[in-house]
Amino acid sequence: MYDVLIIGGGVAGMSCALMLGSAKKQLYAKDKKIGIIIHQRTSSLQNALFNNVLGLSPNTTGASILKEGKDQLSTLYPHVTQINNEKVLKVEQHNDKTITVYSNKSSFKTKNIVVAVGPKNFAIKGLEEFVELHSKLTPEKERTQLKNSDHLVTSGIYVAGVLAGHRSQYAIAAGSGTSVATDILCNWNAGKPVKIHDSIIIE
Ligand SMILES: Cc1cc2nc3c(=O)[nH]c(=O)nc-3n(C[C@H](O)[C@H](O)[C@H](O)COP(=O)(O)OP(=O)(O)OC[C@H]3O[C@@H](n4cnc5c(N)ncnc54)[C@H](O)[C@@H]3O)c2cc1C
Repeated sequence: MYDVLIIGGGVAGMSCALMLGSAKKQLYAKDKKIGIIIHQRTSSLQNALFNNVLGLSPNTTGASILKEGKDQLSTLYPHVTQINNEKVLKVEQHNDKTITVYSNKSSFKTKNIVVAVGPKNFAIKGLEEFVELHSKLTPEKERTQLKNSDHLVTSGIYVAGVLAGHRSQYAIAAGSGTSVATDILCNWNAGKPVKIHDSIIIE
């Protein structure tokens, strides 16, 4: 049983996973089981080139971020389970508040999901009632967003990235995934505010 399973290994999903992973030393997070289904084939990052993102060197390719993000997650936070090359087809919420996530290869039980699959060709069954036309992308392209209130779709289901109704910019998607992660960490911390910061130790 996962405590949280992130669906989508693009900018929002990976940012969410890194943030959750970085809370490992906190008492409220130390026994939590975190996973991410890293399907990257349809990520916007595949063909992207970045010159306008603070912290990314000019000419950084999206393809390099896809690879290095996975390496960063497995090196720094190996307790976050990476489930590779699986595509989610369906989610099912149960009366006991658990969720079953069905992929094309297997299924997983979890208490929370973060849906971060982008706004293109959304086809995950079980979430139809939350689907609407994206309000900040060109209407003719018929992109999807999931109805949400500050990323919460319904109890146990969060949405992050462009699918949450944000414009398609790297920093916005990353911030959205990070925001969801901190909301989940606050819940784990009995509602008390949290932040996870590293700093340089000055002797
Ligand atoms: C060509 C191009 C150039 C860009 N250039 C810039 C730029 O210069 N500056 C800038 O700020 N932004 C740029 N962007 C936008 C930026 O890349 C996106 O805003 C960002 O990637 C959105 O993040 P996301 O996590 O919402 O979606 P994505 O990064 O697209 O991630 C979605 C993830 O979900 C996965 N997925 C999809 N369906 C499923 C499923 N059923 N099950 C499991 N996983 C699934 C996908 O494979 C993907 O990994 C560019 C985008 C493109 C396409």
